[in-house]
Amino acid sequence: MVRTRFAPSPSGFLHIGGVRTALYCWLFARNNGGQFLLRIEDTDSERSTKESIEAILSGMQWLGLDHDEEIVYQSDRFEIYQEKAEELIQSGHAYRCYCTPDELEKMRSEQTKKGENPRYDGRCRDKDDQSGEFVIRFKASNKEDIIINDLVYGQITVHKDELDDFIILRSNGIPTYHFAVVIDDNESKITHILRGDDHLKNSAKHLQLMDAMSYSKPAFIHLPMILGSDGSRLSKRHGAMNILEYKDQGFLPAAVLNYLVRLGWSFGDQEIFAVEEMIDKFDVNNLNKSSAQFDLEKLQWLNQQHLMNTDNSDLAEFLTLKSTLKSIPTTETLISFVEAYKSRVNSLNELLNYFHSLYAEDFTVDDVAAQKFLKTTVLEPLQDLVVSFDQVEWKPESIHQMIVNTCEKHGIGFGKIGQPLRVAITGGTQSPSIDLTITLLDRENVISRLKQAIQYIGSKNV
Ligand code: GLU
Repeated sequence: MVRTRFAPSPSGFLHIGGVRTALYCWLFARNNGGQFLLRIEDTDSERSTKESIEAILSGMQWLGLDHDEEIVYQSDRFEIYQEKAEELIQSGHAYRCYCTPDELEKMRSEQTKKGENPRYDGRCRDKDDQSGEFVIRFKASNKEDIIINDLVYGQITVHKDELDDFIILRSNGIPTYHFAVVIDDNESKITHILRGDDHLKNSAKHLQLMDAMSYSKPAFIHLPMILGSDGSRLSKRHGAMNILEYKDQGFLPAAVLNYLVRLGWSFGDQEIFAVEEMIDKFDVNNLNKSSAQFDLEKLQWLNQQHLMNTDNSDLAEFLTLKSTLKSIPTTETLISFVEAYKSRVNSLNELLNYFHSLYAEDFTVDDVAAQKFLKTTVLEPLQDLVVSFDQVEWKPESIHQMIVNTCEKHGIGFGKIGQPLRVAITGGTQSPSIDLTITLLDRENVISRLKQAIQYIGSKNV
């Protein structure tokens, strides 16, 4: 059975790059009817924080990337790593190294002087008569190159000269990433390792450890990195934020997942995927080899597409939940509001802003819009409309006809009255068709807003 895992180090927030890795692990497992595990790599007690773990878990939950089995915390497993290191010493694959930092520094600078690559020269390999502080090093292969078979990058050879005796257990008893990852992946029976390509060469270390410990080897799938708009690695500088900030900004989880799935994977030229569809179509053979560039505008576009596909009742429920208004319109009105506005917004927050400004109890008109559109030329037509609004049937078609009649009476085109009316009723210059927008409010409210506008025009011209 396919088993994948996402193994973040909780030393910062969960960002776009991490989420994409998690998503691909999750999709691959779900597509194969397999399992997706979560492991928190918190061996570094100085850099790992509780807040970061919480942010990772809430981010995964918000996106619906559910994991199987219990979360593994590496910090609970120090004894296991220590035992395994001891076993490797016993089997002759590892040894204690007593070199001091000064000694290591001297060794490296001599190597550099000779034009060699700095690497540990194995001087403690056969010295077992020492005492003092030690680390445990793995005896690396110095006889043969290591070949990594990666499903994205193909065959990668790491030359034997690049391999040295790397540390598996530090002097404080804490394992290095390389050691813990290999033990845990084996114990969790991981079949496919999907992770960022910054770890590609690390796999050479991991493969040697797997051999030494007689572990079976998983498949490797390294993912090309995500670049910022300037072509350099995506970082905070490019607005790579905590994934939860996308939630705060009104992005839908489905849109974020859709955006990320396309950032390194394709299915023909299809752009829009529902989550179920991603699971169905995800195939690692269609992963891209080249890096993808982060594009906020595309994410916004996808968010709009997914908003359009979201049920009106779900969006109405969101507005009810988030509204800061004292009284909320009826469900029927809410649904009509959502239907009218959802194609005009890129995010849930924008929808909420329109909602708040249309239904505000302390309704105000934007100053610039008022100055531009609420002029004496429209005073009389607006005064007529106050009277007509009192009688008209509260339906877009009837309201439309009524406005047309008023325009005819005053010898002006619809365009001359439409925008002033919109400003008067909505407070701004953007809304769906004015007749429809008017029906989203009740009659008294519309008449009172119109009177407010008439008063404003009057006061300007005193
Ligand atoms: N903790 C490592 C990271 O966050 C995990 C790498 C891996 O998946 O092996 O980069």
